[in-house]
Amino acid sequence: MITIGVFGAGQLGRMLTLAGIPLGLRFRFYDPVPNSPAGQLAPQVVAAYDDSPALERFASEVDVITYEFENVPVDAARFVEKFVPVFPPPLALEKAQDRLVEKSFFSDLGIPTPRFTASGFNGFDVPAVLKTRRMGYDGKGQFIVRNMDELSFAMTQLRGQDLIVEELVPFEREISIVGVRGVDGAVAFYPLTINTHHEGILHRSVVPVQVHPLQGLAESHARKVMEALGYVGVLAIEFFELDGQLLVNEMAPRVHNSGHWTIEGALTSQFENHVRAMARFPLGSTNPIGAGAMVNLIGQIPPVQDILKIEGVHLHLYGKSPRPGRKLGHVTVVAGTDDLLMGKVEKIESLVCRD
Ligand code: AMP
Repeated sequence: MITIGVFGAGQLGRMLTLAGIPLGLRFRFYDPVPNSPAGQLAPQVVAAYDDSPALERFASEVDVITYEFENVPVDAARFVEKFVPVFPPPLALEKAQDRLVEKSFFSDLGIPTPRFTASGFNGFDVPAVLKTRRMGYDGKGQFIVRNMDELSFAMTQLRGQDLIVEELVPFEREISIVGVRGVDGAVAFYPLTINTHHEGILHRSVVPVQVHPLQGLAESHARKVMEALGYVGVLAIEFFELDGQLLVNEMAPRVHNSGHWTIEGALTSQFENHVRAMARFPLGSTNPIGAGAMVNLIGQIPPVQDILKIEGVHLHLYGKSPRPGRKLGHVTVVAGTDDLLMGKVEKIESLVCRD
């Protein structure tokens, strides 16, 4: 039996387990925080990422190691690579952990990004976005700057950290592609997902019936990234759509929140495809079943009874205690037409209180 080791035991690890168990796969998690969402389903080692004996023991108990968050220390990933295959390659972590390195990597591959610089505001127009180079996620560690007052406020808040300045893109839509690559180089892509954020946090993802006109372009960008990294597993790339163009915002070398709709909305979910790639099984079809959508439950969970009354919805709770801004679960729905889908999405959203 193949055992997959996972760095990080959050909800993504939990959903990898739920997808992998029916395939006969076993899971072990490594996370410094006890009783994490995935640790409720599979054994979890509680240890720090710089605890070499614990890392070595963990590597000896699994057949392959993967991760479910991109801020896993690269040193830990490189250390366990001495004992067991690590997918996606630690190089992908290195590129994704620093916004400057990441944007330069995309530019070098000829993939358009918003204009950016790490040398401050000199010569850079406002409005712009000031971001920390490292550890930013869900809109944390970033400020929109339109004038001198906002600049000095942002600089005070972000003092002492390495920063990147980006143009503020007047995007029409935010979209993302989720794809998977096997050890043999086979690739498959899900349809582009249209994402809506509130205060930097993903709120909902929608996949209409009609294929997005930029699907082919997004796939060719993602394929280039995968090939450059010798990638194995699921990769997500977030784009800004503007005037028929795609500008890359960031990538995630892991399963992604904007791919949760695939659990019920595609023939094979992103979670199953990731574990298939880890286990060196053939990849599954990424074809959608119809129009699909996902709504995040953030900060609070509406009464389960009310959610499940909406015909055709599926509820996924992560086993986390409520806290403002925390992702606690999500709801997915599939429908035959976009109108039917959006009718259900509106019903779900009417139950979701934003904090
Ligand atoms: P990030 O943490 O970089 O994914 O940013 C979170 C959200 O902030 C994005 O999903 C966008 O809605 C917004 N955002 C980030 N960077 C930019 C940018 N350069 N221009 C416009 N909006 C941005």
